[in-house]
Amino acid sequence: MNLVDTHAHLDFRQFDADRGAVIERAQSAGVAAMVNVGTDLASSRRAVALAAEHEQIYAAVGMHPHDAKRLDGAALADLRELAQQPRVVAVGEIGLDFYRDRSPRDVQRRAFRAQLAWAGKMGKPVVIHDREAHDEIMGILTNWAQGLQGSSLTGRLGVLHTFSGDLAMAERAVELGFYISISGPVTYKNAHRLAGVVQALPLDRILVETDCPFLTPHPHRGKRNEPAYVRLVAEKIAALKGISFDDLAKATTANAQRLFQFELQPSMFEEERQSTDIEHRTSNREHQTGRRQD
Ligand SMILES: [Zn+2]
Repeated sequence: MNLVDTHAHLDFRQFDADRGAVIERAQSAGVAAMVNVGTDLASSRRAVALAAEHEQIYAAVGMHPHDAKRLDGAALADLRELAQQPRVVAVGEIGLDFYRDRSPRDVQRRAFRAQLAWAGKMGKPVVIHDREAHDEIMGILTNWAQGLQGSSLTGRLGVLHTFSGDLAMAERAVELGFYISISGPVTYKNAHRLAGVVQALPLDRILVETDCPFLTPHPHRGKRNEPAYVRLVAEKIAALKGISFDDLAKATTANAQRLFQFELQPSMFEEERQSTDIEHRTSNREHQTGRRQD
């Protein structure tokens, strides 16, 4: 069983004290890959560094709408250069946040459009942050998608992360070629609308994520979130869709690989074998630990 946490912020200071242990716990919980998403230039640099250090981590680079006012020509050029690094699988997170409004809205729109244009040219899918800006997000993405018809991004334009819209919006986004990513809030008691979206969406368009350190799923709500908890999100979605956890894990992992086009490392498959072969679990793990040190 493998899961992919498609949206994590392991570079944030909340993980400074125990980052290595958090990454190991994710592996033990069956998280075969994580996409560490940048939020500004410094964070994007750290994301690329983490991806270089850990074979199970991939990076996305971009300027979050909160920091849109810092996206000048020089920052955009630096981000572009970073995006050429191996293991950078997406541009993000980018979008609009009309809830916090930490950058003026016209500045957010300009930064969003500039980064979309750049991602399209590079042939990288985008990781979209949308808070209380559903209509504008869909308008801008629809335009962008039209310009990319027949390109290598067809059908894999990106992901609407921590989706918070309604079913009509989700269906429109899927039609355009986006994936819908679900995080901790689906496990909360009042998540009726999101539960309905999950039930109605086709399984081959759903991703799972944590957005850690934020949005911690039940029953850990109130504490720091971490990639290992993506399992709780996946379990809830499996229950909502009435399918087995294994089927849900297989489908969402295949979806993440189709969108981001990465391979799972051979050692991950070894880990999968271990969990089906419990008798040899201990000796295998010792073997693997020993191998990882050289
Ligand atoms: Zn995020």
